[in-house]
Amino acid sequence: MNSRSPKVSTGRPDLTEAAQVISGGLGVGTQEGFSVIEDLADAMGAAVGATRAVTDQHWAPHDLQVGQTGKTVAPALYLAAGVSGAIQHRAGMQSSKTIVVVNKDPKAPIFKIADYGVVGDLHKVLPALTDEVKRRKA
Ligand SMILES: Cc1cc2nc3c(=O)[nH]c(=O)nc-3n(C[C@H](O)[C@H](O)[C@H](O)COP(=O)(O)OP(=O)(O)OC[C@H]3O[C@@H](n4cnc5c(N)ncnc54)[C@H](O)[C@@H]3O)c2cc1C
Repeated sequence: MNSRSPKVSTGRPDLTEAAQVISGGLGVGTQEGFSVIEDLADAMGAAVGATRAVTDQHWAPHDLQVGQTGKTVAPALYLAAGVSGAIQHRAGMQSSKTIVVVNKDPKAPIFKIADYGVVGDLHKVLPALTDEVKRRKA
């Protein structure tokens, strides 16, 4: 894609205006792994966010980066999965109303600002959440 190509619409809400944001960090593991973030966001009608570590890997586009050098968001719900909670990331999302964290490391700093936390593998927790959201919406 060159710089003059039109932006492809994802059909998702705008990151800075969405009531719900599902954000993925390096813990997703691979570019394919980032799809668990997108699947949950789509089931919920939420926007997708990412850490700089993820956008630097090109697992998600740079305009989805949340943080000091990315977008500042303050949704009703911010779910951060596989995100450690570096200060530069927190700067862009810590004003969110309710913060939900999924991380396999109970000592991850992001838990300090979480309203709800799940210590676990995001590749198990997020697909289960996505299935439950879809089941309840059916
Ligand atoms: C000047 C400057 C500006 C910056 N600006 C930004 C910015 O705007 N936004 C930003 O995000 N960063 C920014 N950064 C980078 C920031 O310092 C961190 O490096 C980055 O936020 C870390 O991203 P991460 O949480 O995805 O990765 P990591 O810190 O590597 O964390 C990955 C987390 O995933 C967890 N995990 C691993 N596998 C799993 C699994 N299977 N299930 C669940 N959890 C798992 C790990 O326990 C870990 O906590 C900036 C840095 C600098 C120096």
